[in-house]
Amino acid sequence: MEERKERRIIMFPLPFQGHFHPMIQIARILHHHGFSITILHTSFNFPDPSYYPNFTFRTIYHHNEEQEDPLSKPDASGMDLVTFIRQLRQSYADPFRESLAAEVGGGETECCLVSDVVWGRTSEVAAEEVGIRRMVLITSGVASFYAFAAYPLLRDKHYLPIQDSRLDELVTELPPLRVKDLPVMETNEPEELYRAVNNMVEGAKSSSGIIWNTFEDLERTTLMNFSPEFQGLIFPVGPFHKHSENILLTTKNKENHVTTEWLDKQDPQTVAYVSFGSLADIEEKEFLEIAWGLRNSQRPFLWVVRPGMVQGTEWLESLPCGFVEDIGHRGKIVKWVNQLEVLAHPAVGAFWTHCGWNSTLESICEGVPMICTPCFTDQCVNARYIVDVWQVGMMLDRNKLDKKEIEKVLRIKEMGEGMRESCLNWKKRASVCLSEHGSSSKYLEKLVGHVLSFDS
Ligand code: UDP
Repeated sequence: MEERKERRIIMFPLPFQGHFHPMIQIARILHHHGFSITILHTSFNFPDPSYYPNFTFRTIYHHNEEQEDPLSKPDASGMDLVTFIRQLRQSYADPFRESLAAEVGGGETECCLVSDVVWGRTSEVAAEEVGIRRMVLITSGVASFYAFAAYPLLRDKHYLPIQDSRLDELVTELPPLRVKDLPVMETNEPEELYRAVNNMVEGAKSSSGIIWNTFEDLERTTLMNFSPEFQGLIFPVGPFHKHSENILLTTKNKENHVTTEWLDKQDPQTVAYVSFGSLADIEEKEFLEIAWGLRNSQRPFLWVVRPGMVQGTEWLESLPCGFVEDIGHRGKIVKWVNQLEVLAHPAVGAFWTHCGWNSTLESICEGVPMICTPCFTDQCVNARYIVDVWQVGMMLDRNKLDKKEIEKVLRIKEMGEGMRESCLNWKKRASVCLSEHGSSSKYLEKLVGHVLSFDS
């Protein structure tokens, strides 16, 4: 499609894998529809722009760059996520304003800023100052955002802060969520969590529209509950990674190749793929229970253990001597995989996941049933929907992570049958939404028109 050079969208992703990738995916989609794309990215976790040749990247440096500063570390280690996000917002608020002002003064016609919703008011203030319209990208599901938006009510009704005695109680205002499913994070600064969530929700309400990585069929009811508040400016155009512009753009490396060769040798639908995403970490004790559970299940498994994912260790050194040799070819432990390729492989029969939103959508789109062990925030909401609403998975609570329970869950062969059918049904519905006259395609057309209608 011909590029309308003068029409530019500036994007401001949150610098974490699970947020950056969907932003890049929607950027590709919009680029395909004729927009030029500039990405303002924090110096923290700055990506390699050579992977994204169609986009212009600008680095935003924060003012303490030279000092020994927590944000100079390549991950959020040692800090809870709430504190980390506060620091991120504070450190980059002014530099972002300056970068945006420099961009907008550059002579091209900007249509709008698309900012990750988690930046909240940081991007709102900056956009207002330079006079550019701002849309937000939400990289989590509608149900979890709806729960975040309900924080004031949840506090009024004393569901929050969560009390251990009420964990299994139904949240009658947000069925089917139970108290333990509410999207919270462990933090030393509980008030900061409330502030951060409020900031995010208000930032979305005051935006010129919400781009959502979901599809209407999957979250129709929650979307309908939500829409009146957001005045019809919601664009559920997902799943982003299934739009043609994003397919086949996955990077190949040697490790992928080795993993694929291993998967090729396994029987169809037998492998348990195990990954807890790009951020969650686990205790060494949990790691060992998982290891023994996987081993004892006698089921083939592909397990992603990110370096640093197990607290206090570098990688696999806490496994008992001889463990890896013992599992032999039946199990494979890797540092990272191309998850989209793995989930699409016919050998994969189940995905044991932390239920991050990207992982959830990716699994649904490949028809792979899930074993759900959510860790924090939206993951608990996603897990409840996976199990109770979409019926494409079963729960394995994090507090039940013992090797016997894990072995039992992994051995349940029937899990595949009814759920796989249900999963395949959702997979089909996702493709229908993405087809020419499907809802995601229609919303995308509307989105493009909406963006073009902004006065610069
Ligand atoms: N991912 C991957 N390889 C891995 C683990 C994860 O490519 O070994 C990708 C996965 O496909 C997904 C993203 O990382 O797109 C993780 O996002 P998600 O929202 O599931 O979880 P988060 O990392 O944000 O907790």
